[in-house]
Amino acid sequence: MTDQPLVVFGPRSLDYDFGPAHPLTPRRFGPGIDLLRALGAEPGLAPEPASDDELLLSHTRAYVEVVRRFSEFDHGSMEPEAGIGLGGDNPPFHGMHEAGAAVAGGSLRAVEAILRGDVEHAFHPGGGLHHAMPARASGFCIYDDPALAIARARREGLRVLYADLDVHHGDGVEAIHAADPGVLTLSFHESGRYLFPGTGFVDEIGEGAASATIVNVPLEPDTGETAWLEAVRRLVPELAASFGPDLIVSQHGADSHAWDPLAHLRNTTTAMGEAARLVHAIAHREAGGRWLATGGGGYGVYSVVPRTWSLVWLASAHREIPDRLPAAWRDRWADEAARYGTAALPSSFVDPPNAGDPASRSQDAAERQSQATAAAVRETVVPRLLRAAVDRGWWDPAAPRDATSTTPVPSATPTVVATVDAAAWDGLRLVPQVMAPADPLAGHRLIAAALRDGATVSAAVSDSELVGVCVSAGDASGNELLALGVAPAFRRQGLAGRLLAAHLATVEPSRQIRASVTVAERDVVEPLDRSLRMDIARRLLVGAGFAVERAPDPIGRVDPLAIVATRG
Ligand SMILES: [Zn+2]
Ligand SMILES: [Zn+2]
Repeated sequence: MTDQPLVVFGPRSLDYDFGPAHPLTPRRFGPGIDLLRALGAEPGLAPEPASDDELLLSHTRAYVEVVRRFSEFDHGSMEPEAGIGLGGDNPPFHGMHEAGAAVAGGSLRAVEAILRGDVEHAFHPGGGLHHAMPARASGFCIYDDPALAIARARREGLRVLYADLDVHHGDGVEAIHAADPGVLTLSFHESGRYLFPGTGFVDEIGEGAASATIVNVPLEPDTGETAWLEAVRRLVPELAASFGPDLIVSQHGADSHAWDPLAHLRNTTTAMGEAARLVHAIAHREAGGRWLATGGGGYGVYSVVPRTWSLVWLASAHREIPDRLPAAWRDRWADEAARYGTAALPSSFVDPPNAGDPASRSQDAAERQSQATAAAVRETVVPRLLRAAVDRGWWDPAAPRDATSTTPVPSATPTVVATVDAAAWDGLRLVPQVMAPADPLAGHRLIAAALRDGATVSAAVSDSELVGVCVSAGDASGNELLALGVAPAFRRQGLAGRLLAAHLATVEPSRQIRASVTVAERDVVEPLDRSLRMDIARRLLVGAGFAVERAPDPIGRVDPLAIVATRG
């Protein structure tokens, strides 16, 4: 295996062209690929069209046929259909089927190279067409290459985390994989109240067994790098640790940048580069290094897109960010950039703070609101134990981790131990699927730190293996229940109820105990239907003497089924 990322680009990349007046122009490949080459990147995979069978992984046959008709016939006389039409976002052009299918083919071949183990990382700058829906084109996107790459990996049984950093909501990928509990889609974008496609609000969290596998962080217009990067840094590592992906697919649209003409965030290449490095680190930590990165939107063709692509590539190539852009590159592209309205090319890969703009009261207000939104989302979609572990310093979800080993699941009837001390805990091993995070070794270490910090832990033990765990931690106002879980082989026997009762008996009767149960509390590998999950949680808590009510805002706004419970 080479340690260089596979870069996807070839002659057909230039064929994806809605015409000279369209904002998604193949002109971006000129300065973009040239800058990658100046850094030492060399395209290693030229996209060829995906087959119809491959496109049908995520699209309907009827839609593929519509695209083909527009592609082959005199489309000037055809009525608009399936999102394609003259004068719209997705105008027809000759060869549009082959051009769209080639973008899909690029991402499919790239993910296959990762699945085979030929490379750990691949980067497809022309990919990331995240708005395409199963049966219609949308937002400059004909075929949904990230969704197709994910579908291809799902055929091999891999669990996939999709992180979408484009300024627009990743609605197509979300919709295509919404019903699959094995795909978690996470999108950071400018709020749909102000920007296409008008979706991606906090309460889109998924349904049934797949609830909690859709996460959206809508940001206010004028939000800058601070709040944007803070949200990415918080949620990507925590969600990856709780979900346990085998592959990460990320979309690095450059249109969240302050200079982008189509959107209203004030992001910087500095923050986008940091985000790419974070996604890269998380791919190594959680997904065995398997990482497919794509480009996406980005309409600052000379000033922003080439630098953003370079920062993604540098992250994937394990390279530091050079101080300056190569002078020869700036010389080569200055005239063309000026012709298209970019007077001066930037001289460094990263931007000055806030993209050189002064602070303003309106931006501060936007950032505060975006931070509140991200905090509310985190409180709802990240399991309670993981949030407590990060906030109390028990665990760092972004730190490197040791190799995992699998623990055989025991079969002896478990014994409930009301209070496990740190020494006893160290002598026991945690089996999978008892509690978050997904990796039981990380979970074991997290609880060891919690015990040293005074947390109370009860356990169900079978043959020295931990098959059930209940954790709470206290402060001046009372105790909070942080986790209650039982391994799959020991469920439906009343063990969770016994564990909770034993745990509560260890807490002083005068202390109040609180619990909150959101969509995040679930077995990520074998999730039950959402309403069944909530019935079980409610029954357990009521049976243990808790008063249960609907969670207040902001949690209730994100997850209307969430509950809070108190006892004492
Ligand atoms: Zn976009
Ligand atoms: Zn790497």
